[in-house]
Amino acid sequence: RRAAEARAAMAPATTADGTRIEVFANLGSLEDADAAVQAGAEGCGLLRTEFLFLDRASAPDEAEQRSLYAGIAERLGGRPLIVRTMDIGGDKPVPYLPFPSEENPALGQRGLRLSLARPELFAVQLRAILAAVPGEQCRILLPMVSELAELRRARAAIAAAMAEVRRTSPVQVGVMIETPAAALLAEPLAAEADFMSIGTNDLTQYTLAADRGNAAVAGLVDPLHPAVLRLIAHAAEGAARHRRPLGLCGGLASEPGAAALLVGLGVTELSATPAAVPAVKAVVRTIRTTDAKALADRAREATSTAEVRALLEDPR
Ligand code: PEP
Ligand code: MG
Repeated sequence: RRAAEARAAMAPATTADGTRIEVFANLGSLEDADAAVQAGAEGCGLLRTEFLFLDRASAPDEAEQRSLYAGIAERLGGRPLIVRTMDIGGDKPVPYLPFPSEENPALGQRGLRLSLARPELFAVQLRAILAAVPGEQCRILLPMVSELAELRRARAAIAAAMAEVRRTSPVQVGVMIETPAAALLAEPLAAEADFMSIGTNDLTQYTLAADRGNAAVAGLVDPLHPAVLRLIAHAAEGAARHRRPLGLCGGLASEPGAAALLVGLGVTELSATPAAVPAVKAVVRTIRTTDAKALADRAREATSTAEVRALLEDPR
């Protein structure tokens, strides 16, 4: 009977009324990939590649990156692998990239902005990803997007890297929705992106103008703030308009108690920490989508985070 229960936990997650919700895991290392598979993750919704660049004296070369991405792809056994291009800068500085220090690093040259400013560094990473992760398993996710032009420039860099590694199988390119600008522009972004993934950690920080790492404002930094929920709802409408999959890979995806709300808002893929995957899947299986939609509608109208939390605890 235990074996049957274990098999059931590994099965894909579907709501009680039959809507498929993918439950993926966030990874930062090879070991995480094993933990994710053991926990029943159906893929990787966010590979934080910047871990490769931090705490060292020089950038990892193309061969080193290739071997890491290939290793993770292999451990995932063909499951989808969403590789996020380096999200360095901001609060993740790297000593060998001599940039002038910034007065407001969170609002500075981080994520995709840095990649576009350092095209040679970006090209090395793109070639490594495109050569290492085969076929449909490979999806590329762009961090810290705030306008359509950035997606277009990244797509051009990806096309050039594809040609360089002679890759012919297409790759899906997605954008993170983690700035209020990207959430508000989700519809035009969805017109050109293959998928989108909401980063609630940064989306919350930027929406509430409250540093995610500053203990003094920690009480305010809550992704269940109604302003954040309205942006998520708006992003979901934009994604739906173009029938694009919408994931969520911020910390909120690891809160099983938020899963019904997120499904109700229109999120179709949740990427949690490996440890949280079983609990999130278990909750997804109890969700009725009509109830989830009703819950999301009420949460959107809430005027405080406390009100949203109370709704989640007692949805009646
Ligand atoms: C996020 O901002 O929610 C996110 C998933 O990215 P990171 O936490 O790596 O900034
Ligand atoms: Mg982020």
